[in-house]
Amino acid sequence: MSSATIIDGKAVAAAVRAQVAEDVAAYTAETGRTPGLATILVGDDAGSAVYVAGKQKACAEVGIKGFDHRLPADTSREELLALIDALNADDAVSGILCQLPVPAPLDGVELTNRIDARKDVDGLTIASTGRLSLGMDGLRPCTPKGVMLLLEHAGVAPQGREAVIVGRSNLFGKPMAQLLLAANATVTTCHSRTADLQAVCRRADILIAAVGVPHLVKGDWVKPGATVIDVGMNRLESGLTGDVDFEAAREVASAITPVPGGVGPMTIACLLRNTLTAARMVGA
Ligand code: NAP
Repeated sequence: MSSATIIDGKAVAAAVRAQVAEDVAAYTAETGRTPGLATILVGDDAGSAVYVAGKQKACAEVGIKGFDHRLPADTSREELLALIDALNADDAVSGILCQLPVPAPLDGVELTNRIDARKDVDGLTIASTGRLSLGMDGLRPCTPKGVMLLLEHAGVAPQGREAVIVGRSNLFGKPMAQLLLAANATVTTCHSRTADLQAVCRRADILIAAVGVPHLVKGDWVKPGATVIDVGMNRLESGLTGDVDFEAAREVASAITPVPGGVGPMTIACLLRNTLTAARMVGA
């Protein structure tokens, strides 16, 4: 018999998007300006094209203007840096994101870092990362920010809780740890060299998996009553699946996110929220 509450990321994301739409309308009525998001897609990776199309569509739905820059895989570093400089200077553009990964020999870190931190809606520049770790205001990476909103929705206050994150990527694991630390959780970040991962996971009141290995986290890795957040998105022949053995973990956890329909939908919702925040910061 299943016991865990299923955290419905689709519903939470829909509520965030509806609120952003309302806030964008109020912002436009007040300032006469429309927030704008510029996306940069280099090359013809089908998955990246789907992600960017989804972001552009979501913008249109909440009244954010989209600027969709698609460039061939052989675009030079100089051309891209010039494009980012132009977007940084463009008053109609509130937020900029460069879809990663970019084709070799382009350097995604270099391109991302060219983005003005006030327009860094992915929250991945060195400036945004530094601001997060120093506890300063700024734009936060969308997926970890989405997880914080899901915890809030589930009524799970991180303060004083033991949080364990499996995965230490710059995109997710590290900023997730910083956000939980800022919320006064006691945070452990695990990775491929962590000794006795199961025992560390068993300590977690809040267990977050962002690894990219289907069903790595077993039911007996979960502390009874824990909140389990599954960030993994693994495409198998049977469909999309997470990093947690959902059926086993839901028997032990008190709340758990499904895949799909958990963390995934929160990422774009937070991107829209960040774009409006950026518009307020840059006055665009
Ligand atoms: P990543 O950059 O590949 O990082 C994976 C992390 O998992 C690394 O820190 C790695 O350790 C660790 N790891 C790998 N195998 C492990 C093992 N057997 N035991 C313990 N740790 C292990 O991945 P990412 O970008 O963070 O993404 C992780 C997953 O989340 C993917 O499935 C991705 O699709 C998904 N994701 C979803 C969203 C979304 O829902 N919108 C957003 C971002 C990511 P080392 O550092 O030691 O190599």
